Amino acid sequence: MNNTAPRSAVIIGAGMVGLATAWHLQERGVEVTVLDRAGVAAGSSWGNAGWLTPGMAMPLSDPSIWTYGPKALLDPSAPLHIPVRLDPRLWNFLARFAAHGTQRRWDTAMAALTPIDSLALDAFDELAAGGVRARTHEGPFIIGFERERESTPFVHEISHVERAGQSVPLSRLADPGSLVPQLSPAVSTVFQMGGQRFIEPGPYVEDLARAVHERGGVIHTDAEVTAVQPAGSGVRVFTHDGRTHEADVSVLATGAWLPGLARPLGVRTLVQAGRGYSFSVPTEQPAEYPIYFPARRVACTPYQGRLRIAGTMEFRGPDEPLQPRRIEAILASVRPLFQNMDLEDRRAEWVGSRPVTPDGLPIIGATNAPNIFVAGGHGMWGIVLGPATGRLLAEQIMTGTVPAELRPFNPLR
Ligand SMILES: Cc1cc2nc3c(=O)[nH]c(=O)nc-3n(C[C@H](O)[C@H](O)[C@H](O)COP(=O)(O)OP(=O)(O)OC[C@H]3O[C@@H](n4cnc5c(N)ncnc54)[C@H](O)[C@@H]3O)c2cc1C
Repeated sequence: MNNTAPRSAVIIGAGMVGLATAWHLQERGVEVTVLDRAGVAAGSSWGNAGWLTPGMAMPLSDPSIWTYGPKALLDPSAPLHIPVRLDPRLWNFLARFAAHGTQRRWDTAMAALTPIDSLALDAFDELAAGGVRARTHEGPFIIGFERERESTPFVHEISHVERAGQSVPLSRLADPGSLVPQLSPAVSTVFQMGGQRFIEPGPYVEDLARAVHERGGVIHTDAEVTAVQPAGSGVRVFTHDGRTHEADVSVLATGAWLPGLARPLGVRTLVQAGRGYSFSVPTEQPAEYPIYFPARRVACTPYQGRLRIAGTMEFRGPDEPLQPRRIEAILASVRPLFQNMDLEDRRAEWVGSRPVTPDGLPIIGATNAPNIFVAGGHGMWGIVLGPATGRLLAEQIMTGTVPAELRPFNPLR
């Protein structure tokens, strides 16, 4: 710790990333106040798939964008959906996103993600040892395809993740029916992946908030932040109701809403809402393992005695209403793949916004403004990478030194 280490912090955003950062600052003796405009896990930290899969936490833009990208514009039921509209911000983002769809750029981004991926699961164990009671669950993860040839890109991608330095045990499953009776005979090629875990994300983040609160943290959930500014040797945070909060440092962790507060502080990396949908359904036999259909881009997770089904990537604004057609598109794509479950008995239909950056890397570290930091832009992987992000950023805030794992994620890149 350096001798000007902060003693108080205002964290903006009570999602996985903000709360994990608050917890780690508390661990280092900092008094924290967390402000959220809507509630704990009110953003994308609620209805996501809850996968703690560092072995799949890879850059989103890859060379296959050149095949599925054009389809996204023409086919409203495609897993990636881009509404055709005149929106220069969106087209600017898409041009930059597509420019990262080369093998060379993917490899560079994967090399940047591998060190934080490698810390991800230990960071959950650290939270458990420090009083977070919500459990993480072991896999295996079941990966299913209708046609053998569809598995080739996925297996290839995992081999690249391994080449970058992670171990991702992947093997063919001879008798999938015994582990996952929910798979229909149409799913002819099945793999299992080891070494990964999953959580029930909403309850997990609520429990993390409880832990932060019990350690003395203050959480305000009707506090929309309108501006954050340096003030004296600290910061001043303004909320919609005219209140101000002062502290030594502040961290913006506002997910897909990050640009509104971060852009005036020099953070120019675009963050686009990549909206995903989920719902849960009952299954005849208990669903015990997560299931992934890579060719359909649908992820399923055991959740509260049911199976949560999540999917699609829709590039719209984070505050636009839920589009029922996207739920229908997920249903149409999984209907042939499942049996023994009632897809009509859906609960908790939900839309949430992944904070997607063009280069597939999160934005973690200092802004141009003294004592103001950002933590976000994790895209598809803010749940698994949230706790490791919180630990590394807290270390940077307390010591003034950027940990090696965070260097590629410089918010001012
Ligand atoms: C369908 C789907 C499936 C996913 N599956 C996985 C998965 O399996 N594993 C994984 O790792 N990730 C997954 N993700 C991605 C993951 O959900 C996100 O990366 C992660 O939740 C981002 O967390 P966050 O804390 O940065 O943002 P959020 O959880 O969105 O939190 C941001 C918070 O900031 C608040 N806020 C915004 N603006 C303001 C303001 N001005 N003032 C105060 N508060 C404000 C919001 O209310 C919100 O609570 C999935 C996402 C989706 C949509």
